[in-house]
Amino acid sequence: MNKSIKVFAPASVSNVGCGFDILGFAIDGIGDEMILSKNNLNKLHIKPIEGYKNLPTEPSKNVAGVAIQALLDDLGSNQGFDIEIKKNIKPGSGIGSSSASAAGAVVAANELLGKPYSRKELVNFAMQGEIAASGDAHADNAAPTVLGGFCIVRAYDPLDVIQIESPKDLWCVVIHPQIEIKTKEARELLSTEVDLKKAIRQWGNVAGLISGLHQSDYNLIGRSLEDHIVEKQRKVLIPEFDNLKQAVLEAGALGCSISGSGPSVFALCEGEDKAKAVSSAMNEVFSKTTIPYFIYASQVSNNGVRILE
Ligand code: ADP
Repeated sequence: MNKSIKVFAPASVSNVGCGFDILGFAIDGIGDEMILSKNNLNKLHIKPIEGYKNLPTEPSKNVAGVAIQALLDDLGSNQGFDIEIKKNIKPGSGIGSSSASAAGAVVAANELLGKPYSRKELVNFAMQGEIAASGDAHADNAAPTVLGGFCIVRAYDPLDVIQIESPKDLWCVVIHPQIEIKTKEARELLSTEVDLKKAIRQWGNVAGLISGLHQSDYNLIGRSLEDHIVEKQRKVLIPEFDNLKQAVLEAGALGCSISGSGPSVFALCEGEDKAKAVSSAMNEVFSKTTIPYFIYASQVSNNGVRILE
């Protein structure tokens, strides 16, 4: 059995407009790299983190450590690991920075332990890592990061995750303004009451979106990418949100909303050409501000964490 493994853990978009807290998908192209090695110390040890350096290296505070510990506790193992994290996803970005580390960590540990768990079972441990990030064990980023594609979190107790393969030509463009919004703070903004009429509209959209994904019906996907509950409350945290949305829809995006709790904003598109036009539209809006930003365009990924070597 190998002593060391290198993995790529992709970024992800959660909520996906109408699917607040129950839906997410994985994106290609941006993600964390991690190397996990067995040690003989019966302890987790996180090496100094490359990339975004201000993250905790204490295993009980870093999502990677918390997630692996949850797996080891369940297995009844005291195996120690050295954990190297090359952090490419800015924490607090809204594209699943914490989930990537948690998911990468449990997939890598599972491989080195001889695969005692299935990928689906690993989602349970990856989401425990989220407690260290936001105080809540949520799976809408963790599930697609571990499994790939779109994932519905139907229930938590017990966890019931349904994976849907993404249509072939479905592209995602994400703009990530370099400001930090903590999930915990963005949650505190939300009203706990939902108007029944809005809820009915939202259910219709969730059902439409899932059907659209199954049937590769891009028009239906676009019509269903509406959020009448959360977006309005959270968009105040995101500079230029309304202008961005208008510009990307004019450029041909199927739909656009906040990624996770922001500040990233995503748009779904049919095909690469539309994705390029949408990237330019986002660039046009944001280049007029003084806020630094990155734009990523990629196919929605049907791969979760990938083993590199
Ligand atoms: P995101 O949606 O980008 O994951 P969150 O607010 O959910 O943003 O998580 C970021 C928080 O998680 C930060 O407070 C950060 O310090 C904490 N954290 C702990 N370990 C990690 C890690 N390995 N990667 C990213 N964030 C981490």
